[in-house]
This record gives sequence, structure tokens and C-alpha cells, in this order.
Amino acid sequence: MSTSAAPILGIDFGTTNTAAAFFDKAGKLRVVPIAEKTLTLPSIAWFHAGDKAIVGPAARRQIIDDPRHTIFGAKRFLGRRFQSEYVARHRGRFAFELVEGPDGYTAVEVYGKVTPLIDVAHFILKHIHTLANHTAGARFEECVLTVPAHANIRQREAIRHAAEKAGLRVRAIVNEPTAAALYYANLRNPEQTVMVFDLGGGTFDVTLMAVQNRVVKVLATGGDAFLGGANFDEQIVEVLVEDFRKKQGIDLRGNKVVMQRLVFAAESAKMALSNATSVPLRVPCITQKDGAFVDFQYTLTREQVEAMVFQLIERTAAACDDVLEKAGLKPEAIDELVMVGGQTRMPAIRKRLAHFRKLSSEKEVHPELGVAVGAAILGRNLARGITGLSDVVPMPIGAMVPGGGQHEVLPANTPVPGTRSVSLDLPPWPGPVPVALFEALDRTTVERELLGTVRIEPEWRVAHPGPTTLELRMAPDFSLTASLVAPDGQRQPLTITDANAPQRA
Ligand code: AMP
Repeated sequence: MSTSAAPILGIDFGTTNTAAAFFDKAGKLRVVPIAEKTLTLPSIAWFHAGDKAIVGPAARRQIIDDPRHTIFGAKRFLGRRFQSEYVARHRGRFAFELVEGPDGYTAVEVYGKVTPLIDVAHFILKHIHTLANHTAGARFEECVLTVPAHANIRQREAIRHAAEKAGLRVRAIVNEPTAAALYYANLRNPEQTVMVFDLGGGTFDVTLMAVQNRVVKVLATGGDAFLGGANFDEQIVEVLVEDFRKKQGIDLRGNKVVMQRLVFAAESAKMALSNATSVPLRVPCITQKDGAFVDFQYTLTREQVEAMVFQLIERTAAACDDVLEKAGLKPEAIDELVMVGGQTRMPAIRKRLAHFRKLSSEKEVHPELGVAVGAAILGRNLARGITGLSDVVPMPIGAMVPGGGQHEVLPANTPVPGTRSVSLDLPPWPGPVPVALFEALDRTTVERELLGTVRIEPEWRVAHPGPTTLELRMAPDFSLTASLVAPDGQRQPLTITDANAPQRA
């Protein structure tokens, strides 16, 4: 491990917003300013040519003017196969064109050119890297990246590649809620049990942790990979569109561009309703009727929106209960529920979780910056040769032997670094026996991702008759290694082939 004192940039590349922070030479925490009074960069890239994009607030404005070339929410699809259930379920909602890249992974088509999402992410990371260099007056070489707790190995690889493309070496990838807890641990220096409730634009994680002397130990994690602030916006739009259809006799659902404008307006109204009890929502010239333009006008109240998203809020509360149950704890055992992610600013969410002893306030734990600051803290720790955290495996990893026999090897919530082994019952096989390694794609589906294959040589089986012990180890950077273990403890490392090369389903 390098003991270089050069600062390491902490980056929270979010579905909706990206933020970065670091500790300067004087040891002072600095959050990278994006613009005057703005500390978050919209994770949006507007392509003005096949391979040229601008990012940030200027790109955000293009959602309305040029929705087909304005890519937002790319993180939801980054590192996911195009032919997956997740992509099939979500891709229809965007006015830009999601397509299958040559490697089988999801890409976008802009101006007839297929652009991998790693490239889209790279534009955003490059921009924040440049801003950070400007703030620090020096060039950052290394970074700590954050990912949702349930991100699978492929998604972690994809974000790593995007950062490398942006000119940054990745020192560590940390789960967003864990980063938030590191921030919290350094804020309070407490000895407490905390639950991090992280509801951002695209994902929802709940993580239970023990914090002791600024060290964070993850006890259990859960959540819902299909739930985020964007679902709240969609829910609002659904009700508005239905109301418009009833009143005007026009169904706006078929028009992707119009729907995107409505989602944008609904999100702005939703955010405003965190501070107001009623807001006017107006989208001019949304359609035509009898030869004249029709505006979309509606006055939304906080109460109405709360009713529209009631089920979504209930899902977040149920996930908290699940995680508590996994850990065998009651809500009273949680000293503080740490709220991160922009969507936690919604008062109804805080109200629904009021049975917890204490919820973090927006003033104390910044919902949008906590994760980036946690990443910066990890960066500072790594530069000093420590980590200050212990994490868990977010999703189970299993092995499949020829004939279809399956074994779970690393269950979800195994501490990281972690090593587990299983005894494989191998069929008679000519030559090396291929054993496939799988990871569940996310916690809410049975879909799995092939991570790679290990081969068990006949020589090993002859030398060690009987069941074969396969051992998998998850390293602190969430990279996976495999070995065979003989009854006398002798070990043989195995190569996981194709682990990095995306494969077609
Ligand atoms: P994040 O990924 O943490 O930046 O969170 C982005 C999500 O938070 C988006 O869905 C936003 O609509 C939502 N959000 C941001 N600010 C607010 C607010 N004041 N009230 C409600 N939701 C918000």
C-alpha cells in the first residue's frame, strides 16, 4: 500500500448528481465547487456531436430542448447487459436511445454512433476531475469512488474503467452508505449503532452499521435496486397524465419527449414541495387541440403528492424492517437513522420513519454531500495506510457445476475481506471440469450475472479423491479470487477466466 501523502479525491458519482471532496494539504476538508453556490454536478451529458459532450448545469437545460441527445441517469444502466431484465424494464422511459453495445452491455446511440455508457460516465468524471484540480491547484492522480451497496461486480468494474478513462487511478471503491457512515463516524466520533437510509435518484440502500472510534463495521445491508427519487417523479406524472386524459381527452403517454418534459416538471414540483405545501406546475405548449397549443397546468399540493407516493414510502420502511430483522434488532436499538440521498429531504419520508429514536438532520448530515465526504475520508485514511471500515458482500456469489448443481459460496452480508468454501460434488468429466461463478444481479430479482469460470484439472481430482473444496475470497476492493483446498490444507489458486471480459448471454 502506498503511503503517499498526495490527496486522494473522493467522488460520489450519483445517478442524479455527482459531488467530490478532498482533504487539502492543511488537512482541511474541501468540497469541490461546481458553480457559484453549487456543490453538486448534475450527472447529465449533452452530446452536441457523436463524440463530444458537455456536462453539468448547461447539459441539464438540454433535457427540455434536446432530450434525444441528453443522457441522464446513465448510472442506472452502467455495467448492465442490454439483454437483462433490468434494462428491458427501464429503457422505454428515456427519450434517448439505449442500445446494445458491441460487448453486449448497454450503450446509447447518439447521432447514429453507439457510445458505451462508460464513455458517458467518463465525461462526467472528467469534468469533476478538472474542477477538483482547479480547486486544489494541483492534479489529482487517485480517487476513491462510491457505488450503491447492491452494485454488482460488473457495475463496479464499469465505474472503475470510466474513472481510469478520465485519468484517475482508483484506490478503492466503497459502498455509498458505508461512505456516509464514515462521514457520520468522523462527525460525531461516537460509539453507536446507526442505520444509513440512502434514497437517491435511482437507488435505495439501507445499511446497518456499528460505529466505534471512527471505525465503521457494516452489520447488514438491504434495500431496493428499483427504487429511487425517479420513481417518485414517475408516480406523480402517471397521476397528472391520467388527469389530463380525463379532462382533455388526450393521452400524452405515447410521446417520449412530452413525457420527459413532464417528468422534469414533476421533479421540480416535488422538490419544491419539500418546503412548500402547494406549488403550481406548468409545462407550456405540451400538445395541440383543435389547431391551438394547450399548456399543461396543475396545482400540486404536498398532501396530494404524499398520497401518490404512499406505496413507495411504505417500501422504504419495509426494507428498514427487513434489515433490522436480518440483524435481529429492534428500531429502538438504532441510535440514529442517518438520512442521505436527495429524496430524503421529503418530509413524508422523515415522518414515516419517526419511530426511530433519532433521524439525522439535514444541517448535520448533508444529504447530497455526505457520501462524497465519506469517500474523501476513506481517501485520507488510505493515504495514511488505514481504512477505518469493514464492509460486507452485498449480493450472494455462487458456483454451478456441470449438470446444474448450484452452491452458494459467499452469502450476502459476509464480512469483506471474506473467505468461504464449499464442497463440490463433481460429476465424472473428461478433462478439466468447468465451474461457473455467478453473482445475483441485484437483491430484487433472481437474475444472475456470470462472473467467470474456473477449471478443475483432472490431476487435482486424482490427487485428492472425494468431494472438491472450492474457496472464494472477496478482497477489500471487492475483487474476487478462487482456489482449491485439499483436505491437508494445501491450496491451489484458480484462474477465473472471462471474469473481466463481458460475455453475451
Ligand atoms: P441524489 O442522487 O442523492 O442526488 O438524489 C437525487 C434525488 O433526490 C432526485 O430524485 C431528486 O428529485 C431528489 N431530491 C433532491 N432534492 C429534493 C428535495 N428537496 N425534496 C425531495 N426530493 C429531492
